Amino acid sequence: LRSLLKDPSLLATKAYVAGEWIDADDGTSFEVTNPARGDVIARVPNLGRAETARAIAAAAKAQKEWAARTGKERAAVMRKWFDLMMANQDDLGTILCAEMGKPLAEAKGEIAYGASFIEWFGEEAKRVYGETIPGHQRDKRITVIKQPIGVVASITPWNFPNAMITRKCGPALAVGCAFVARPASETPLSALALAVLGERAGLPAGILSVITSERASDIGKEFCENPVVRKLTFTGSTEVGRILLRQAADQVMKCSMELGGNAPFIVFDDADLDKAVEGAMISKFRNNGQTCVCANRIYVQSGVYDAFAEKLRAAVAKSQVGDGLKDPVQFGPLINMDAVEKVEEHIADATAKGAKVVLGGARHELGGSFFQPTVLTGVTDEMTVTNEETFGPVAPLFRFETEEEVIEKANATIFGLASYFFARDIGRITRVQEALEYGMVGVNTGLISTEVAPFGGVKQSGLGREGSHHGMEDYLEMKYICLSI
Ligand code: ADP
Repeated sequence: LRSLLKDPSLLATKAYVAGEWIDADDGTSFEVTNPARGDVIARVPNLGRAETARAIAAAAKAQKEWAARTGKERAAVMRKWFDLMMANQDDLGTILCAEMGKPLAEAKGEIAYGASFIEWFGEEAKRVYGETIPGHQRDKRITVIKQPIGVVASITPWNFPNAMITRKCGPALAVGCAFVARPASETPLSALALAVLGERAGLPAGILSVITSERASDIGKEFCENPVVRKLTFTGSTEVGRILLRQAADQVMKCSMELGGNAPFIVFDDADLDKAVEGAMISKFRNNGQTCVCANRIYVQSGVYDAFAEKLRAAVAKSQVGDGLKDPVQFGPLINMDAVEKVEEHIADATAKGAKVVLGGARHELGGSFFQPTVLTGVTDEMTVTNEETFGPVAPLFRFETEEEVIEKANATIFGLASYFFARDIGRITRVQEALEYGMVGVNTGLISTEVAPFGGVKQSGLGREGSHHGMEDYLEMKYICLSI
C-alpha cells in the first residue's frame, strides 16, 4: 500500500494520543486487512482504557486554550486542514479504498465529502451567535451565550472511515471542543491519516486524538465513565447505540446518535422511471448497499412495477464488480464474510417465501466477500428484509396499489432515518413528504447527503443532527445570563 502513495507518511500505523504517536502500553496490536484481497495491509496498536484516559486528560487541558481562540483563528487551522485533505485526496482515497473496499472513485468522493465538513464548519466557527431577550423586570437584562460543551468522545463505523469522523469533529473543533476519536477497528488508517494532516495544519496537541483499538466495549466504557467527557457522539447500529445511551445515562452525558435505518424508496405510477432507476442505483447500491441511508425496501406501484423492475435489472447488470484499487468498478467487496452471510440469509428467506431472483442472488466468482448485485421481485411484508437492514447489494421490490397503503407500510418500522420517493403530481408530492415519518426525505433524488443540510433520524434512528448550522448546536451548551442593573 505504501508504494501506491505519493506521500507514504500518510500511512500512519501508530495511535495518536495527546499529540504523540504511540504504541499500546501492553505492546499489543491488531491487523488491518484489505477486504478485496484479504491481505494484511498494516498493524496498528490495540489501545485500552489507560491510553484512552490519557487522551481524555490531554483533551481537557488543550481545550481551554483552543476555546479561548477566536472563531476566525480556529477557522484558519481548519481551512488549512481542509486544503491538505484535498491536496492529498488521491492518497487518502487509496488508503480508504484499501482498508474498506469501496471503489477508488467512490473513496476519493468520500474524501471530498468528508473534507467539506471541515471547510463548512470551519467557516461557521465565526457565527456562534447568542441571543438577547427583553428583561422580565425593569432592572433585568437577559442574554444567552453559547459555549463549547468540552471534551467530546466519538465512536464511528467502518462504512465511511473518513466522513463519519469529520462530520463530528468538524463542528466539535469549530466551536472549541476537543475530540477523542475511536474509529472502527476495520478502518483505523483513514482516521490516522486525518490526524497526520490535522497535526500538519496546526491543531494543538491533545485537541484531536485517535484511539486505535479492537477493545470497543472497553473504550466505550472509558468514554462513558470518565467524568471529564461531556459528550458522546456515535454512528453505528441501533443495538450498540442503545448500549451506549444506557452507559452514558450514569453521567447524564449529552449524546448524538446516528443509528440504523430501514429506508423506503417509493416509485409512484406518475414517476419519471429513468430518473427513479438512476436514484435507486445511487440510493440502493452506493458503497455496495452498505450505508445507513441505503434504500432497503423498494415499493413500486402496480402500474409501473414490471417496467421499473426490468429497467433496474438492466442498469444493475451493466455494473462492474471488482477490486477498486485495480479496476474502475462500481461495486467492491462487502466488508467481511459476516456481511456476506447476512445478505445470503436475507435472500434465502425472501426466496423461501416466494420472492424471485431476477439478477444475481449468490456469491461472486471473484470469491472472498464479493457478492453479485441482486434484484428481487415479488417481495412481501413477511420477509426478513422488510424489518431488517440488509446492508448489502440487494434490491427487494415490493408491489403496492395506493398512496395510503404505501405510506402505512413505509412508516411501519422502528426506524426513521432516510426515505425516498419518485412522483410528479405536486399534490401527491406534498402529501407524501409530510406523511413520511423520517428525518430525511429525498423527492425525485436518491442522493441527499451534503454538509449544508441537517442529516439525522427520528424514532430509533437517532438523536441530533449532523451538518448545517443545526450540526453546530449539538456541540454547544447555551448559558442564560440574568443581569440586574
Ligand atoms: P457496524 O455494524 O456498522 O459495525 P456497530 O454498531 O456494530 O455497527 O459498530 C459501530 C461502532 O461501534 C464500531 O466502531 C464498533 O467497533 C463500535 N462498538 C461496537 N460495540 C460497542 C460497544 N459495546 N461499546 C463501544 N463501541 C462499540
